[in-house]
Amino acid sequence: MSEKPRIIAIANQKGGVGKTTTAINVAAGLAEKGNRTLLIDLDPQGNASTGLGIEPEARNLTTYDLLVEGIPIGDVLCPTAFDRLYICPANSDLASADMELIANERRTFLLQDALKTLSGDFDYVLIDCPPSLNLLTINALVAADSVLVPLQAEFFALEGLSQLMLTVREVRQTANPALRIEGVVLTMYDKRNNLSQLVENDARQTLGELVFATIIPRNVRVSEAPSFSVPVLAYDSTSKGSEAYRALVAEMTASHRTPMRKSA
Ligand code: ADP
Ligand code: MG
Repeated sequence: MSEKPRIIAIANQKGGVGKTTTAINVAAGLAEKGNRTLLIDLDPQGNASTGLGIEPEARNLTTYDLLVEGIPIGDVLCPTAFDRLYICPANSDLASADMELIANERRTFLLQDALKTLSGDFDYVLIDCPPSLNLLTINALVAADSVLVPLQAEFFALEGLSQLMLTVREVRQTANPALRIEGVVLTMYDKRNNLSQLVENDARQTLGELVFATIIPRNVRVSEAPSFSVPVLAYDSTSKGSEAYRALVAEMTASHRTPMRKSA
């Protein structure tokens, strides 16, 4: 691994499509494979922090302090119960960051600036974005090497995607020309449901090789895991959900070694 971590934003402005679940489990899967991994919780809901067992009262310094107060990232990140997996936790403080940063000239570069100071401490940084294309998500896209897009296999899934792709293009034209699409991953897929298959066909036809071969199935173990404050990989290591997330990690890490995925 190079000195610089590989930075992946997990984004989709729709809520409830599997961003946080994907962030937690891809992070856990990367750590399981021996990678030093940092998950940045960039959602005021703090679901990634909760899902990795960081109690609200244990969130002394948060992503808010990192971005708005300029607290060094080394002071904000904290270990999780899992080897090699660290998190910058978030809480509702982050909800006002957009407003508070309005007059800050570097407001879109704050996360990039913070991550630059990490040096060789991590192999991967994953960013769990909020369900909106706001300043926080822009910070993630500006800081990232690539964006991983969870797409829930349901009606209208692709419509929201064009807005996200437009934003990616804008960020490329301004602050981050090298930003790539890591890929689109179908989530909560139910193979007994025709709609899931229709959405998959549609996505593969429209987006081609940007869509990962791996599909994350709807799996009750995946939805149970957060209430035990662990990734599904730890909660039920052999569940269909765990197998799928491991396969996704394998696909992502393999593609890093081949020529870069073409951008959309
Ligand atoms: P987002 O971060 O995009 O809002 P979440 O990852 O929080 O989405 O997922 C929304 C809800 O769906 C959560 O309750 C989560 O546990 C559930 N969920 C996510 N992925 C799966 C899956 N593969 N199978 C079953 N439930 C899932
Ligand atoms: Mg979320």
